[in-house]
Amino acid sequence: MKLPITGGCLCGKVRYEISAPPIDSVNCHCRTCQKSVGAAYLAFMLVPASALTITGDYKEFATLSASGHTLYRGFCAECGTSLFGRNSYFTHVRPVAAATLDDPSIFQPKKNIWVADAQPWDIMNPDLPSYAGSPW
Ligand SMILES: [Zn+2]
Ligand SMILES: [Zn+2]
Repeated sequence: MKLPITGGCLCGKVRYEISAPPIDSVNCHCRTCQKSVGAAYLAFMLVPASALTITGDYKEFATLSASGHTLYRGFCAECGTSLFGRNSYFTHVRPVAAATLDDPSIFQPKKNIWVADAQPWDIMNPDLPSYAGSPW
């Protein structure tokens, strides 16, 4: 994977750069992800927290993650694009929304998580390992 990995929001005011390869790549089907991105699931990469550099104004909204930890969901204050997060428990990694990458085709999901919350119209790759809840 070519580094740095770059991405940003719909309006372009928030940009980010990732200087290390992702630790994991996941499709999360939990209800809070569904709500926050307005889609069947959130595709995200987990990257080392120290490797993520963010520029531009963004806001955070605190939600209780399905695992019971506080997840701060970061979004552009201007256009509302969901970009990245911060977990109160897993502080060494940060989730970054795969669809906000400049080249989203580099994303290679490795697992489906929280499939117990998935919608009947959510179509998943059956070749990927699936977890009813969190694998971590
Ligand atoms: Zn924006
Ligand atoms: Zn989720």
